[in-house]
Amino acid sequence: MTTTETEEEFRARASAFLTEHATGLEFETPDPRGANELDACKAFQGKVAAANLAGVTYPKEYGGQGLPKSYDRVWREEYSKHSDMTGQLTISHGMCVPMLTEYGSDEQKAQYLPDAIAGRTVWCQMFSEPSAGSDVASLQSKAVLDGDEWTLNGQKVWTTLAHVSDYGLIVARTNPDVSKHAGLSMFIVDMRQEGVDIRPIHQIDGGMHFNEIFFTDVRLPKTALVGDLNNGWRLATAMLMYERVAIGTGSSSGVKTPTSDFLMKTAKKYGKSDDYVTRQALMEIYMEETTKSLVSMRTRAEMKAGKTPGPGGSLGKLHGAKIARLSRALTMNLAGPAGAAWEGDGESATRFSNSTLRSFAANIAGGTDEIQKNIIGDRVLGLPRDISVDKDVPFKDLRTS
Ligand SMILES: Cc1cc2nc3c(=O)[nH]c(=O)nc-3n(C[C@H](O)[C@H](O)[C@H](O)COP(=O)(O)OP(=O)(O)OC[C@H]3O[C@@H](n4cnc5c(N)ncnc54)[C@H](O)[C@@H]3O)c2cc1C
Repeated sequence: MTTTETEEEFRARASAFLTEHATGLEFETPDPRGANELDACKAFQGKVAAANLAGVTYPKEYGGQGLPKSYDRVWREEYSKHSDMTGQLTISHGMCVPMLTEYGSDEQKAQYLPDAIAGRTVWCQMFSEPSAGSDVASLQSKAVLDGDEWTLNGQKVWTTLAHVSDYGLIVARTNPDVSKHAGLSMFIVDMRQEGVDIRPIHQIDGGMHFNEIFFTDVRLPKTALVGDLNNGWRLATAMLMYERVAIGTGSSSGVKTPTSDFLMKTAKKYGKSDDYVTRQALMEIYMEETTKSLVSMRTRAEMKAGKTPGPGGSLGKLHGAKIARLSRALTMNLAGPAGAAWEGDGESATRFSNSTLRSFAANIAGGTDEIQKNIIGDRVLGLPRDISVDKDVPFKDLRTS
């Protein structure tokens, strides 16, 4: 790569690389903890970095390519023509790397970004707690400054890929004397350090991709703080926006209708493509996918113009969740009894049943559908805000479970 490489030259180089290497992830199954798939993603990302194609817009000194945003669009366009090779790095690359870039200190960027961008290290996001999911500002994990270090105690839950992560971004309470949103801070945690106890959560589809984590007197250096002290709510909100874009926006290069394309083929295969109810369901999914693509293109265009993703990211996420809901109903109708009871590890088991069971996560992960609707209502449409009775009450005086 040279600094004078034009967009067309960059496209040709990206295309040649992807044609050779993005040929589908190969990993050993069963893989209930997702570790084999993650290793395959890391191996691919290592090749991307070696070919000087990783982190297109990130500064060179932090392991990126230092190229303008338009080159990132070119990369996404080319990438979307191939199999997804980095799905397990979505939290690292879609959420943690942008957050560190935007809010991390120069030392934090130099220390963590090159390895994260090249896929040598993996990051997780630790927000949710047993009594703080939608209302994440009610979280109770706390960090107390003790000399030159913070002491972290508490519990997180639903932490995707914590068991294979090297680092995580955590939000913890650093001041209980102010209102719940005002006393939070974000920290970097080394996931392998003493006092971090990671336990698997078993999913209905047989996987164990997320975890509960217990922190007992975990020592964090002063330098683990990301951004300003007690400014964690602002950072958490920014990270949730990145999450919704990562989940709901995808590569956003043109209009893509992969789910309706697949279900159309399936309907033909099962002889149901002339059935009126099936056709209507297919059309609805097609319309949702088309709308989602257009929303995604607008979100990416805003990001390209230098905007941090705003509440519009919730729209793409909500469309994705609706597609998941509509397609699981149609899938089960098409599959019939084979969708619920099967023998061996055939198509119905993997394609239909497991993907149907997994699809429920789309309505919850990254904020539930109801929460996205609240955000769109008050921050996009300007409707009155959701009622909040504890906004100005010091956290220590709140009645919490
Ligand atoms: C696949 C998956 C991966 C995840 N990965 C992570 C991760 O890596 N890190 C992490 O921190 N978390 C993760 N989560 C957790 C996720 O963010 C939470 O599950 C989600 O925010 C909902 O919180 P909750 O489960 O506590 O539900 P609750 O907040 O208890 O909600 C229960 C129900 O009440 C509704 N509700 C709540 N408040 C309102 C309101 N104000 N208005 C209307 N309805 C409301 C909700 O919509 C929902 O239907 C993951 C979840 C899933 C499913």
